[in-house]
Amino acid sequence: MGEKRFRATQLFRWIHQRGAQDFAAMSDLAKSLREKLAGKAEIRPLPIVTEQISTDGTVKWLFDVGAGNAVETVFIPEDDRGTLCVSSQAGCAVGCRFCSTGHQGFSRNLTTGEILAQLWMAEHKLRARLGLKPGERAITNVVMMGMGEPLQNYNALVPALRVMLDDHAYGLSRRRVTVSTSGVVPMMDRLREDCPVALAVSLHAPIDALRDDLVPLNRKYPIAELMQACLRYLEAAPRDFITFEYCMLDGVNDTEDHARALLALVNGRGPNRVPCKLNLIPFNPFPASGLLRSPREQVMRFAKILQDGGLVTTVRKTRGDDIDAACGQLAGEVQDRTRASERMKRLPVPIVPLGSPLR
Ligand code: SF4
Repeated sequence: MGEKRFRATQLFRWIHQRGAQDFAAMSDLAKSLREKLAGKAEIRPLPIVTEQISTDGTVKWLFDVGAGNAVETVFIPEDDRGTLCVSSQAGCAVGCRFCSTGHQGFSRNLTTGEILAQLWMAEHKLRARLGLKPGERAITNVVMMGMGEPLQNYNALVPALRVMLDDHAYGLSRRRVTVSTSGVVPMMDRLREDCPVALAVSLHAPIDALRDDLVPLNRKYPIAELMQACLRYLEAAPRDFITFEYCMLDGVNDTEDHARALLALVNGRGPNRVPCKLNLIPFNPFPASGLLRSPREQVMRFAKILQDGGLVTTVRKTRGDDIDAACGQLAGEVQDRTRASERMKRLPVPIVPLGSPLR
């Protein structure tokens, strides 16, 4: 628009830091510029369909993104941080077996504005509710772990990440912004170049035969390729480890043999060793999945094998259970264009015996 650069900084601060919704309120911008902006652009929050607050303080919003689609965003408060779980797509085309979003199919990518609008809305609503003073932040961490595979919406994702990191907007450190991927290998390489932030990888199985069933993207980018991509990513990553997510499914991927296979995979000797932390996620069952949560004792046995093998292993606390806000439960509303739910109904529950492909 031919304006000075500092005008962009002012605009950024008004919108993202002060939560302004109207150009007319931006008192340090010239009146002529405010009018010009109002003629060219709009600041439009996403309409809230529902807001649910769990007994543990977790908040879940359902945002209307038009044409019958709605996406979910979850705020998880902890003693030392506030984490926002943000969606990147209306639905998801990857179709992981244990994921409620995957069962709903895919409608469309969110725009950069729609990704950021989730953060904008949550930050300013929470600040008002918690009575925070100017400069105090409700949200200290963002995880791109809501609905969708963020790396399949790369062009909208990266500008959104840059705004999250920008000191004139949300000023989050790269270490506190995490992209979670099911393993879109070429885009992991691009993210490393374009905007390296913390990385979480949804692993869920230590061998290809099982991961092919649980995370269908594995057929395109099998585990060995994924591990190499993780190692390349670490060359530029703000943290010196990858977080591997592992959803514990009763009788499917949770045996002691699976734990040992997982250990061998990530803890191997030599150049293939991937510095990592393991995050075990108790499965949150939903009827269409046909899968069950591993018993607590099994999860602890599994964790102990990994810990004894030298891997930093945590078991994720289930949060927001009473409002279906826990991991893998985000469903929103999706006008499926992929017939995923019909396809998935026909799939048997995979139980791949650990045997020759592994050892
Ligand atoms: S786990 Fe992630 S990648 Fe897999 S279907 Fe769900 S949203 Fe998509």
